[in-house]
Amino acid sequence: MLKTVKFGGSSLASAEQFRKVKAIIERDAARRYAVVSAPGKRFSGDDKITDLLYRCQALRASGKPFDAEFRKIADRFTGIRDGLGLDLCIEAELDEIRSRIDAGASADYAASRGEYLNAKLLAAYLGFPFLDATECIRFRDDGTFDADATALRANVLTAHACAVIPGFYGRTRAGNIRTFSRGGSDITGAIVANLSESDVYENWTDVSGFLMADPKIVPDARVIETVTYSELRELSYMGATVLHEDSIFPVRKARIPIHVLNTNDPEAKGTMIVPDSMATDKEHARALTGIAGRRGYTVLTLTKDNLHNDLGYAYRLMGILARNGISAERMPSGIDTISLVVDDKRLTGRMDQLYHDVMAECAPDTIEIASCIALIACVGIGMVRNPGVAAKLFTALANAEVNARLIDQDSNEMNIIVGVEQRDFERAVEAIYRAFA
Ligand code: ASP
Repeated sequence: MLKTVKFGGSSLASAEQFRKVKAIIERDAARRYAVVSAPGKRFSGDDKITDLLYRCQALRASGKPFDAEFRKIADRFTGIRDGLGLDLCIEAELDEIRSRIDAGASADYAASRGEYLNAKLLAAYLGFPFLDATECIRFRDDGTFDADATALRANVLTAHACAVIPGFYGRTRAGNIRTFSRGGSDITGAIVANLSESDVYENWTDVSGFLMADPKIVPDARVIETVTYSELRELSYMGATVLHEDSIFPVRKARIPIHVLNTNDPEAKGTMIVPDSMATDKEHARALTGIAGRRGYTVLTLTKDNLHNDLGYAYRLMGILARNGISAERMPSGIDTISLVVDDKRLTGRMDQLYHDVMAECAPDTIEIASCIALIACVGIGMVRNPGVAAKLFTALANAEVNARLIDQDSNEMNIIVGVEQRDFERAVEAIYRAFA
């Protein structure tokens, strides 16, 4: 058994957190590759090291002094080191980072140093070798991740029986540091799990797993024990995120499960994210796995007599959307109607042109525009096998006096989308949760 473990910023924010991480790693000899984030917040209102590093670089770029910000960074790292009683000199590294930022280093370089130094500290504390991400994570010159060049570096990683690797960054062929988008250490963890052919990718955070519904709406929402990659994708798309979205792909392809665990409660079961084919009868017997939703949609409903016989109607409509740079989230249709569900962010500044083009090229009999709509995704691979899911769902909404403005089901029958008025959003989520939990 081989495990890649990734610890997030809050898991490594202080010496006390480092102690928890060490205990976790030492409890299981399979935990051989550890990927780390930069120190995160210790308390609300605290600074994240990555934010401070970006700030130093931005201050320098605008010709302002950055000493005060840099001091906070240096103090945090030396504080962790001293708190752990480590005999590791990081002052020279800090000086070098400082002078490179002063000499105009890139934002990517500056931001990457949080992970770099934290990995150095954890490696020393565990007695593991430090393996720099630049040794195996490769980017193209345009800043995109180069999976092929990275795959060729697998042997550099596996030459080490165990290692601590900084997350979030890698380098281009020319040697420039590049980072993933924010939260990208999750992606590094997934890549390392894939390169090392780990059996499990453990992602240690500060929550005890993936919850069945947003705890801001349902404070007692249950943790989902097992979720498939497909279910997770549907839920994350609607805003329920624990992991960076792009961290799914490297492990999903290699059929490696992700185990989301809590550094502050290591005994909690957490959530296992598994390939669809690894779902057991238990998951298939479950009518609903999770609920996620978002506000801020507009629904445009076009009505035209005999629309279904008008060959190419949907095609023309899609052409208009593409030309205007708008994508429709969903397109439920009836015999004489087509609805477009569009994220408001995509409509800003484009609505008038869209309306004009639709009227000119599609000539609907009527066009109705409903704004302030929230979408709720009710997701579960078991839906298809369990009769009565929809009945239960809509009974719950009716009992909560919520009117479903729109209903759509994916063709894979894993996701029922309900559109409701924004003011009913919370009530609807809560009602659905109570009906299925
Ligand atoms: N430290 C980086 C960030 O704050 C990357 C990460 O933590 O995953 O976004």
